[in-house]
Amino acid sequence: MKNGKEKEFVLDVVNRNSQAISLLGDNIFYFAELGMQEFETSGLMVRILEEAGFQVERNISGMPTAFMATYGSGKPVIALHTEFDATPASSQVTGVAEPRSITEGAPGHTEGHNVNAAVLIGGAFAVKKAMDEFKLPGTLKVFGAPAEEQLVSRPFFVRDGYFKDVDVAIHDHIGGEFGTLYGLRQYALISAEFTFKGVSAHAATAPWKARDALDAVVLMDIGFDKLREHLEPTQRSHRVITDGGDQPNVIPNRATIWWFFRESTAEKAQAIFEKAKRVAEGAAIMTGTTYSVNVLSAVWPTRANKTMAEVIHQNVELVGMPKWTETEQKLARELQSKEQLKPIGLRPEISPLREETNQSTSANDSGEVTWVVPSGRLTFPANIPGIAFHHWAAGVSLATSIAHKGAVAGAKTMAASTIDLFNDPALVAKAKETFKEEIADVEYKPLLPPDQKPPLELNKAIMERYRSLMQKHYPKEKPEFR
Ligand SMILES: [Zn+2]
Repeated sequence: MKNGKEKEFVLDVVNRNSQAISLLGDNIFYFAELGMQEFETSGLMVRILEEAGFQVERNISGMPTAFMATYGSGKPVIALHTEFDATPASSQVTGVAEPRSITEGAPGHTEGHNVNAAVLIGGAFAVKKAMDEFKLPGTLKVFGAPAEEQLVSRPFFVRDGYFKDVDVAIHDHIGGEFGTLYGLRQYALISAEFTFKGVSAHAATAPWKARDALDAVVLMDIGFDKLREHLEPTQRSHRVITDGGDQPNVIPNRATIWWFFRESTAEKAQAIFEKAKRVAEGAAIMTGTTYSVNVLSAVWPTRANKTMAEVIHQNVELVGMPKWTETEQKLARELQSKEQLKPIGLRPEISPLREETNQSTSANDSGEVTWVVPSGRLTFPANIPGIAFHHWAAGVSLATSIAHKGAVAGAKTMAASTIDLFNDPALVAKAKETFKEEIADVEYKPLLPPDQKPPLELNKAIMERYRSLMQKHYPKEKPEFR
Protein backbone atom coordinates (compact mmCIF):
# COMPACT_ATOMS: atom_id res chain seq x y z
CA MET A 1 0.00 0.00 0.00
CA LYS A 2 1.52 3.29 -1.02
CA ASN A 3 0.48 6.78 -0.11
CA GLY A 4 0.77 8.29 -3.56
CA LYS A 5 -0.60 11.41 -5.16
CA GLU A 6 -4.15 10.01 -5.39
CA LYS A 7 -4.28 9.69 -1.64
CA GLU A 8 -2.87 13.14 -1.05
CA PHE A 9 -5.50 14.40 -3.47
CA VAL A 10 -8.48 12.86 -1.61
CA LEU A 11 -7.21 14.12 1.72
CA ASP A 12 -7.06 17.62 0.20
CA VAL A 13 -10.60 17.31 -1.19
CA VAL A 14 -11.93 16.31 2.21
CA ASN A 15 -10.06 19.18 3.88
CA ARG A 16 -11.45 21.62 1.34
CA ASN A 17 -14.97 20.33 2.10
CA SER A 18 -14.69 20.07 5.86
CA GLN A 19 -17.22 22.88 6.29
CA ALA A 20 -19.70 21.17 3.95
CA ILE A 21 -19.24 17.82 5.73
CA SER A 22 -19.92 19.49 9.09
CA LEU A 23 -22.98 21.29 7.73
CA LEU A 24 -24.38 18.10 6.25
CA GLY A 25 -24.06 16.31 9.59
CA ASP A 26 -25.65 19.28 11.39
CA ASN A 27 -28.55 19.52 8.95
CA ILE A 28 -29.35 15.82 9.40
CA PHE A 29 -29.01 16.24 13.18
CA TYR A 30 -31.86 18.77 13.11
CA PHE A 31 -33.93 16.78 10.57
CA ALA A 32 -33.82 13.89 13.11
CA GLU A 33 -35.99 11.64 11.00
CA LEU A 34 -37.01 8.17 12.12
CA GLY A 35 -36.51 5.06 10.01
CA MET A 36 -38.35 4.88 6.65
CA GLN A 37 -39.31 8.56 7.02
CA GLU A 38 -35.88 10.07 6.25
CA PHE A 39 -37.15 12.19 3.35
CA GLU A 40 -35.26 15.45 4.11
CA THR A 41 -32.12 13.50 4.96
CA SER A 42 -31.93 11.24 1.93
CA GLY A 43 -33.17 14.11 -0.28
CA LEU A 44 -30.22 16.26 0.74
CA MET A 45 -27.72 13.40 0.37
CA VAL A 46 -29.07 12.51 -3.08
CA ARG A 47 -28.96 16.16 -4.18
CA ILE A 48 -25.27 16.37 -3.28
CA LEU A 49 -24.44 13.09 -5.04
CA GLU A 50 -26.36 14.04 -8.18
CA GLU A 51 -24.74 17.47 -8.34
CA ALA A 52 -21.39 15.72 -8.00
CA GLY A 53 -22.18 13.59 -11.06
CA PHE A 54 -23.35 10.30 -9.55
CA GLN A 55 -26.14 8.36 -11.25
CA VAL A 56 -28.71 7.96 -8.49
CA GLU A 57 -31.34 5.23 -8.31
CA ARG A 58 -33.94 6.15 -5.68
CA ASN A 59 -36.52 3.95 -4.06
CA ILE A 60 -34.33 0.85 -4.18
CA SER A 61 -36.00 -2.31 -2.80
CA GLY A 62 -39.19 -0.27 -2.80
CA MET A 63 -38.09 2.02 0.03
CA PRO A 64 -38.67 5.70 -0.79
CA THR A 65 -35.73 6.94 1.30
CA ALA A 66 -33.23 4.32 0.10
CA PHE A 67 -30.82 5.06 -2.72
CA MET A 68 -27.90 3.71 -4.68
CA ALA A 69 -25.57 6.25 -6.29
CA THR A 70 -23.15 4.96 -8.93
CA TYR A 71 -20.07 6.50 -10.51
CA GLY A 72 -17.59 5.04 -12.99
CA SER A 73 -17.66 1.68 -14.71
CA GLY A 74 -16.02 -1.73 -14.72
CA LYS A 75 -14.07 -3.53 -12.03
CA PRO A 76 -13.51 -3.35 -9.16
CA VAL A 77 -16.94 -2.43 -7.79
CA ILE A 78 -16.54 -0.83 -4.38
CA ALA A 79 -19.55 -0.10 -2.20
CA LEU A 80 -19.72 2.47 0.60
CA HIS A 81 -22.81 2.42 2.73
CA THR A 82 -24.34 3.76 5.90
CA GLU A 83 -27.52 4.65 7.80
CA PHE A 84 -28.96 8.06 8.74
CA ASP A 85 -32.04 7.54 10.94
CA ALA A 86 -32.78 9.02 14.38
CA THR A 87 -34.35 7.57 17.54
CA PRO A 88 -37.79 8.39 18.99
CA ALA A 89 -38.41 10.73 21.93
CA SER A 90 -34.77 11.70 22.18
CA SER A 91 -34.59 15.30 21.00
CA GLN A 92 -31.46 16.74 22.62
CA VAL A 93 -29.77 20.14 22.47
CA THR A 94 -26.24 19.77 21.23
CA GLY A 95 -23.22 20.96 23.23
CA VAL A 96 -24.78 21.03 26.71
CA ALA A 97 -24.01 18.40 29.36
CA GLU A 98 -27.56 18.06 30.62
CA PRO A 99 -30.82 16.61 29.30
CA ARG A 100 -32.59 19.37 27.35
CA SER A 101 -34.93 18.87 24.38
CA ILE A 102 -34.90 20.90 21.20
CA THR A 103 -38.52 19.89 20.63
CA GLU A 104 -40.20 18.21 23.59
CA GLY A 105 -41.06 14.56 22.85
CA ALA A 106 -39.71 14.67 19.30
CA PRO A 107 -37.23 12.27 17.72
CA GLY A 108 -33.54 13.11 17.94
CA HIS A 109 -30.16 11.73 17.04
CA THR A 110 -28.81 9.90 20.09
CA GLU A 111 -26.36 7.65 18.35
CA GLY A 112 -24.90 9.76 15.58
CA HIS A 113 -26.22 8.39 12.30
CA ASN A 114 -26.33 12.03 11.18
CA VAL A 115 -22.52 12.01 11.26
CA ASN A 116 -22.39 8.58 9.58
CA ALA A 117 -24.11 10.18 6.59
CA ALA A 118 -21.72 13.15 6.52
CA VAL A 119 -18.73 10.78 6.50
CA LEU A 120 -20.23 8.69 3.70
CA ILE A 121 -20.90 11.68 1.45
CA GLY A 122 -17.60 13.41 2.28
CA GLY A 123 -15.64 10.25 1.54
CA ALA A 124 -17.56 9.36 -1.63
CA PHE A 125 -17.29 12.89 -3.00
CA ALA A 126 -13.50 12.88 -2.61
CA VAL A 127 -13.14 9.45 -4.25
CA LYS A 128 -15.27 10.55 -7.20
CA LYS A 129 -13.04 13.60 -7.69
CA ALA A 130 -9.98 11.35 -7.66
CA MET A 131 -11.58 8.96 -10.15
CA ASP A 132 -11.93 11.93 -12.53
CA GLU A 133 -8.52 13.42 -11.85
CA PHE A 134 -6.54 10.20 -12.22
CA LYS A 135 -8.86 8.29 -14.59
CA LEU A 136 -9.18 5.46 -12.10
CA PRO A 137 -10.94 2.40 -13.52
CA GLY A 138 -13.75 0.84 -11.53
CA THR A 139 -17.16 1.58 -10.09
CA LEU A 140 -18.08 3.36 -6.89
CA LYS A 141 -21.48 2.57 -5.41
CA VAL A 142 -22.85 4.62 -2.53
CA PHE A 143 -25.80 3.19 -0.63
CA GLY A 144 -28.15 5.10 1.62
CA ALA A 145 -29.66 2.58 4.04
CA PRO A 146 -32.86 3.69 5.81
CA ALA A 147 -34.25 2.54 9.14
CA GLU A 148 -31.12 1.00 10.65
CA GLU A 149 -32.63 1.40 14.12
CA GLN A 150 -35.28 -1.09 13.06
CA LEU A 151 -32.72 -3.16 11.18
CA VAL A 152 -34.63 -2.84 7.95
CA SER A 153 -32.91 -1.98 4.72
CA ARG A 154 -29.79 -3.96 3.89
CA PRO A 155 -31.26 -7.49 4.09
CA PHE A 156 -33.70 -6.28 1.43
CA PHE A 157 -30.88 -4.77 -0.67
CA VAL A 158 -28.94 -8.04 -0.52
CA ARG A 159 -32.03 -10.12 -1.28
CA ASP A 160 -32.85 -7.90 -4.26
CA GLY A 161 -29.37 -8.27 -5.75
CA TYR A 162 -27.93 -4.78 -5.18
CA PHE A 163 -24.70 -6.24 -3.79
CA LYS A 164 -24.38 -9.00 -6.38
CA ASP A 165 -21.63 -7.39 -8.44
CA VAL A 166 -19.95 -5.63 -5.51
CA ASP A 167 -16.37 -6.77 -4.83
CA VAL A 168 -15.73 -5.15 -1.46
CA ALA A 169 -17.65 -2.84 0.85
CA ILE A 170 -16.99 -0.34 3.63
CA HIS A 171 -19.49 0.74 6.26
CA ASP A 172 -18.80 3.74 8.47
CA HIS A 173 -20.26 4.13 11.95
CA ILE A 174 -19.79 6.67 14.70
CA GLY A 175 -18.13 5.73 17.98
CA GLY A 176 -16.02 7.06 20.81
CA GLU A 177 -12.87 5.76 19.21
CA PHE A 178 -11.05 5.82 15.88
CA GLY A 179 -10.23 2.45 14.41
CA THR A 180 -11.45 -0.82 13.03
CA LEU A 181 -11.38 -4.50 13.83
CA TYR A 182 -12.17 -7.83 12.24
CA GLY A 183 -14.11 -10.95 13.15
CA LEU A 184 -17.63 -11.43 14.43
CA ARG A 185 -18.86 -8.12 15.81
CA GLN A 186 -22.60 -8.11 16.54
CA TYR A 187 -25.73 -10.24 16.87
CA ALA A 188 -28.31 -11.66 14.48
CA LEU A 189 -31.82 -10.31 14.92
CA ILE A 190 -35.37 -11.10 13.82
CA SER A 191 -37.90 -8.29 14.10
CA ALA A 192 -41.48 -9.58 13.97
CA GLU A 193 -44.95 -8.34 14.81
CA PHE A 194 -47.49 -10.80 16.20
CA THR A 195 -51.06 -9.65 15.61
CA PHE A 196 -53.92 -11.41 17.36
CA LYS A 197 -57.49 -11.18 16.17
CA GLY A 198 -60.58 -11.85 18.29
CA VAL A 199 -64.12 -10.57 18.70
CA SER A 200 -65.01 -7.34 20.48
CA ALA A 201 -67.92 -6.87 22.86
CA HIS A 202 -69.08 -4.47 25.57
CA ALA A 203 -66.64 -5.06 28.41
CA ALA A 204 -69.33 -4.52 31.11
CA THR A 205 -72.55 -5.88 29.69
CA ALA A 206 -71.45 -8.84 27.56
CA PRO A 207 -67.74 -9.73 28.07
CA TRP A 208 -68.57 -13.45 27.61
CA LYS A 209 -69.30 -12.70 23.97
CA ALA A 210 -65.77 -11.44 23.36
CA ARG A 211 -62.52 -13.08 22.40
CA ASP A 212 -59.90 -10.73 23.73
CA ALA A 213 -56.93 -10.08 21.44
CA LEU A 214 -55.15 -8.07 24.13
CA ASP A 215 -55.36 -11.05 26.50
CA ALA A 216 -53.57 -13.07 23.84
CA VAL A 217 -50.81 -10.44 23.64
CA VAL A 218 -50.43 -10.44 27.42
CA LEU A 219 -50.33 -14.25 27.52
CA MET A 220 -47.72 -14.35 24.78
CA ASP A 221 -45.62 -11.92 26.79
CA ILE A 222 -45.95 -14.02 29.96
CA GLY A 223 -45.38 -17.22 27.98
CA PHE A 224 -42.17 -15.88 26.50
CA ASP A 225 -40.98 -14.84 29.95
CA LYS A 226 -41.50 -18.43 31.10
CA LEU A 227 -39.55 -19.60 28.07
CA ARG A 228 -36.62 -17.27 28.86
CA GLU A 229 -35.36 -19.49 31.69
CA HIS A 230 -34.85 -22.28 29.20
CA LEU A 231 -33.10 -20.25 26.54
CA GLU A 232 -29.35 -19.90 26.41
CA PRO A 233 -28.11 -16.88 28.36
CA THR A 234 -26.62 -15.49 25.15
CA GLN A 235 -30.04 -14.52 23.80
CA ARG A 236 -31.54 -11.03 24.03
CA SER A 237 -35.24 -10.63 23.29
CA HIS A 238 -37.48 -7.65 23.95
CA ARG A 239 -40.84 -6.28 22.92
CA VAL A 240 -43.32 -3.41 22.87
CA ILE A 241 -47.09 -3.59 22.59
CA THR A 242 -47.90 -1.41 19.59
CA ASP A 243 -51.65 -2.02 19.58
CA GLY A 244 -53.43 -2.79 22.83
CA GLY A 245 -56.94 -1.68 21.91
CA ASP A 246 -58.65 1.69 21.93
CA GLN A 247 -60.65 2.10 25.14
CA PRO A 248 -61.41 -0.07 28.20
CA ASN A 249 -65.14 -0.57 27.62
CA VAL A 250 -64.59 -2.22 24.24
CA ILE A 251 -62.77 -5.54 24.42
CA PRO A 252 -60.06 -5.32 21.77
CA ASN A 253 -60.63 -7.53 18.74
CA ARG A 254 -57.15 -6.76 17.53
CA ALA A 255 -53.83 -6.39 19.35
CA THR A 256 -50.18 -6.42 18.30
CA ILE A 257 -46.93 -7.16 20.09
CA TRP A 258 -43.66 -6.39 18.32
CA TRP A 259 -40.61 -8.47 19.18
CA PHE A 260 -36.87 -8.33 18.54
CA PHE A 261 -35.27 -11.77 18.94
CA ARG A 262 -31.47 -11.60 19.13
CA GLU A 263 -28.83 -14.31 19.26
CA SER A 264 -25.18 -14.76 18.41
CA THR A 265 -25.85 -16.63 15.15
CA ALA A 266 -28.58 -16.49 12.52
CA GLU A 267 -29.45 -20.11 13.22
CA LYS A 268 -29.96 -19.49 16.93
CA ALA A 269 -32.06 -16.37 16.30
CA GLN A 270 -34.25 -18.42 13.97
CA ALA A 271 -34.65 -21.13 16.63
CA ILE A 272 -35.93 -18.59 19.19
CA PHE A 273 -38.33 -17.16 16.62
CA GLU A 274 -39.75 -20.65 16.02
CA LYS A 275 -40.25 -21.09 19.78
CA ALA A 276 -41.94 -17.69 20.02
CA LYS A 277 -44.39 -18.75 17.32
CA ARG A 278 -45.35 -21.76 19.47
CA VAL A 279 -45.90 -19.44 22.44
CA ALA A 280 -48.15 -17.27 20.24
CA GLU A 281 -50.05 -20.34 19.14
CA GLY A 282 -50.61 -21.26 22.79
CA ALA A 283 -51.83 -17.75 23.59
CA ALA A 284 -54.23 -17.91 20.66
CA ILE A 285 -55.61 -21.28 21.77
CA MET A 286 -56.12 -20.06 25.34
CA THR A 287 -58.02 -16.97 24.22
CA GLY A 288 -59.86 -18.38 21.21
CA THR A 289 -58.17 -15.84 18.95
CA THR A 290 -56.13 -16.24 15.79
CA TYR A 291 -52.73 -14.77 15.09
CA SER A 292 -50.49 -13.79 12.21
CA VAL A 293 -46.79 -12.95 12.06
CA ASN A 294 -45.21 -10.17 10.05
CA VAL A 295 -41.42 -10.21 9.81
CA LEU A 296 -40.34 -6.56 9.54
CA SER A 297 -36.74 -7.51 9.04
CA ALA A 298 -34.21 -10.18 9.85
CA VAL A 299 -30.46 -9.80 9.80
CA TRP A 300 -27.31 -11.80 10.17
CA PRO A 301 -24.62 -10.76 12.69
CA THR A 302 -22.14 -8.18 11.45
CA ARG A 303 -18.67 -9.47 10.76
CA ALA A 304 -15.59 -7.78 9.34
CA ASN A 305 -12.96 -9.10 6.98
CA LYS A 306 -9.32 -9.06 8.10
CA THR A 307 -7.85 -7.72 4.86
CA MET A 308 -10.39 -4.90 4.72
CA ALA A 309 -9.62 -4.10 8.36
CA GLU A 310 -5.91 -3.91 7.56
CA VAL A 311 -6.58 -1.50 4.69
CA ILE A 312 -8.76 0.71 6.87
CA HIS A 313 -6.40 0.58 9.82
CA GLN A 314 -3.40 1.78 7.79
CA ASN A 315 -5.44 4.78 6.76
CA VAL A 316 -6.65 5.44 10.30
CA GLU A 317 -2.94 5.57 11.19
CA LEU A 318 -2.25 7.90 8.29
CA VAL A 319 -5.09 10.29 9.16
CA GLY A 320 -4.52 10.15 12.92
CA MET A 321 -6.75 11.16 15.82
CA PRO A 322 -8.09 14.73 15.60
CA LYS A 323 -6.49 17.22 17.98
CA TRP A 324 -9.08 18.02 20.59
CA THR A 325 -9.27 21.45 22.22
CA GLU A 326 -9.56 22.02 25.95
CA THR A 327 -13.20 23.15 25.47
CA GLU A 328 -14.04 19.86 23.75
CA GLN A 329 -12.27 17.85 26.43
CA LYS A 330 -14.10 19.77 29.13
CA LEU A 331 -17.50 18.98 27.63
CA ALA A 332 -16.55 15.30 27.31
CA ARG A 333 -15.32 15.06 30.91
CA GLU A 334 -18.33 16.89 32.27
CA LEU A 335 -20.68 14.52 30.49
CA GLN A 336 -18.74 11.43 31.56
CA SER A 337 -18.84 12.57 35.19
CA LYS A 338 -22.56 13.21 34.95
CA GLU A 339 -23.02 9.68 33.59
CA GLN A 340 -20.98 8.21 36.47
CA LEU A 341 -18.15 7.27 34.14
CA LYS A 342 -14.45 7.87 34.64
CA PRO A 343 -13.87 11.37 33.19
CA ILE A 344 -11.23 10.31 30.68
CA GLY A 345 -12.32 12.90 28.12
CA LEU A 346 -11.86 12.31 24.40
CA ARG A 347 -9.33 9.70 23.35
CA PRO A 348 -5.96 11.13 22.32
CA GLU A 349 -4.88 8.07 20.31
CA ILE A 350 -6.30 5.83 17.61
CA SER A 351 -7.24 2.27 18.60
CA PRO A 352 -5.00 -0.65 17.65
CA LEU A 353 -6.15 -3.09 14.98
CA ARG A 354 -7.43 -6.24 16.64
CA GLU A 355 -9.65 -9.24 16.25
CA GLU A 356 -13.04 -8.84 17.94
CA THR A 357 -13.32 -11.38 20.73
CA ASN A 358 -16.28 -9.89 22.52
CA GLN A 359 -19.30 -10.13 20.21
CA SER A 360 -21.75 -7.33 21.01
CA THR A 361 -25.41 -8.11 21.71
CA SER A 362 -26.36 -5.16 19.50
CA ALA A 363 -27.14 -5.62 15.82
CA ASN A 364 -26.86 -3.63 12.61
CA ASP A 365 -28.62 -4.43 9.36
CA SER A 366 -25.29 -4.05 7.55
CA GLY A 367 -24.69 -7.56 8.89
CA GLU A 368 -26.36 -8.97 5.82
CA VAL A 369 -23.83 -7.35 3.50
CA THR A 370 -20.90 -8.70 5.52
CA TRP A 371 -21.74 -12.34 4.68
CA VAL A 372 -21.90 -11.79 0.93
CA VAL A 373 -19.13 -9.24 0.34
CA PRO A 374 -15.73 -8.82 2.07
CA SER A 375 -16.51 -5.89 4.33
CA GLY A 376 -14.76 -3.40 6.51
CA ARG A 377 -16.28 -1.30 9.26
CA LEU A 378 -14.75 2.03 10.09
CA THR A 379 -15.45 3.51 13.52
CA PHE A 380 -14.79 7.25 13.51
CA PRO A 381 -14.48 9.35 16.68
CA ALA A 382 -17.45 11.75 16.89
CA ASN A 383 -19.11 10.55 20.06
CA ILE A 384 -17.91 10.81 23.65
CA PRO A 385 -16.18 7.64 24.93
CA GLY A 386 -18.24 5.50 27.28
CA ILE A 387 -21.59 7.22 26.68
CA ALA A 388 -24.37 4.70 25.94
CA PHE A 389 -26.36 5.16 22.73
CA HIS A 390 -30.12 5.86 22.66
CA HIS A 391 -29.80 8.09 25.72
CA TRP A 392 -29.86 11.91 25.83
CA ALA A 393 -26.14 12.08 26.63
CA ALA A 394 -25.26 10.41 23.31
CA GLY A 395 -26.87 13.36 21.49
CA VAL A 396 -24.67 15.99 23.11
CA SER A 397 -21.63 15.89 20.81
CA LEU A 398 -23.43 15.27 17.53
CA ALA A 399 -23.51 18.78 16.07
CA THR A 400 -20.45 20.19 17.86
CA SER A 401 -16.85 20.61 16.74
CA ILE A 402 -16.20 17.12 18.19
CA ALA A 403 -18.54 15.60 15.59
CA HIS A 404 -17.19 17.90 12.87
CA LYS A 405 -13.58 16.86 13.44
CA GLY A 406 -14.53 13.20 13.79
CA ALA A 407 -16.48 13.35 10.53
CA VAL A 408 -13.57 14.86 8.62
CA ALA A 409 -11.23 12.18 10.00
CA GLY A 410 -13.79 9.51 9.07
CA ALA A 411 -14.33 10.84 5.54
CA LYS A 412 -10.57 10.99 4.95
CA THR A 413 -10.13 7.39 6.08
CA MET A 414 -13.05 6.19 4.00
CA ALA A 415 -11.74 7.97 0.90
CA ALA A 416 -8.12 6.91 1.39
CA SER A 417 -9.11 3.26 1.97
CA THR A 418 -11.25 3.27 -1.17
CA ILE A 419 -8.35 4.73 -3.15
CA ASP A 420 -6.09 1.90 -1.94
CA LEU A 421 -8.64 -0.64 -3.15
CA PHE A 422 -9.06 1.07 -6.54
CA ASN A 423 -5.31 1.33 -6.97
CA ASP A 424 -4.41 -2.22 -6.10
CA PRO A 425 -6.38 -5.09 -7.65
CA ALA A 426 -4.29 -7.55 -5.64
CA LEU A 427 -5.72 -6.06 -2.46
CA VAL A 428 -9.30 -6.68 -3.61
CA ALA A 429 -8.34 -10.22 -4.63
CA LYS A 430 -6.75 -10.80 -1.22
CA ALA A 431 -9.86 -9.53 0.58
CA LYS A 432 -11.95 -12.01 -1.41
CA GLU A 433 -9.57 -14.83 -0.61
CA THR A 434 -9.39 -14.18 3.15
CA PHE A 435 -13.16 -13.67 3.20
CA LYS A 436 -13.68 -17.09 1.66
CA GLU A 437 -11.46 -18.64 4.32
CA GLU A 438 -13.19 -16.76 7.12
CA ILE A 439 -16.70 -17.90 6.27
CA ALA A 440 -15.68 -21.34 4.99
CA ASP A 441 -17.91 -23.46 7.20
CA VAL A 442 -20.93 -21.14 7.27
CA GLU A 443 -23.66 -21.37 4.69
CA TYR A 444 -25.39 -18.03 4.23
CA LYS A 445 -29.16 -18.46 4.14
CA PRO A 446 -31.15 -15.22 4.51
CA LEU A 447 -33.45 -15.00 7.53
CA LEU A 448 -35.67 -12.56 5.66
CA PRO A 449 -38.69 -14.25 4.03
CA PRO A 450 -38.22 -14.12 0.21
CA ASP A 451 -41.53 -12.38 -0.46
CA GLN A 452 -41.41 -9.96 2.49
CA LYS A 453 -42.21 -6.32 1.68
CA PRO A 454 -40.45 -3.49 3.54
CA PRO A 455 -42.49 -1.81 6.33
CA LEU A 456 -43.06 1.57 4.68
CA GLU A 457 -45.49 2.83 7.32
CA LEU A 458 -42.89 2.52 10.05
CA ASN A 459 -42.69 5.70 12.18
CA LYS A 460 -44.97 7.62 9.84
CA ALA A 461 -47.43 8.71 12.54
CA ILE A 462 -44.67 9.93 14.87
CA MET A 463 -43.00 11.99 12.15
CA GLU A 464 -46.32 13.46 11.07
CA ARG A 465 -46.91 14.57 14.61
CA TYR A 466 -43.55 16.26 15.14
CA ARG A 467 -42.20 17.31 11.75
CA SER A 468 -43.79 20.77 11.60
CA LEU A 469 -42.50 21.57 15.11
CA MET A 470 -39.03 20.36 14.21
CA GLN A 471 -38.87 22.31 10.94
CA LYS A 472 -38.42 25.55 12.88
CA HIS A 473 -34.99 24.35 13.93
CA TYR A 474 -33.68 23.25 10.53
CA PRO A 475 -30.42 25.08 9.73
CA LYS A 476 -30.78 27.72 7.02
CA GLU A 477 -27.36 27.04 5.58
CA LYS A 478 -27.05 23.97 3.33
CA PRO A 479 -23.79 22.19 2.46
CA GLU A 480 -22.11 22.91 -0.87
CA PHE A 481 -19.40 20.47 -1.90
CA ARG A 482 -16.77 21.58 -4.37
ZN1 LIG B 1 -26.01 2.82 14.65
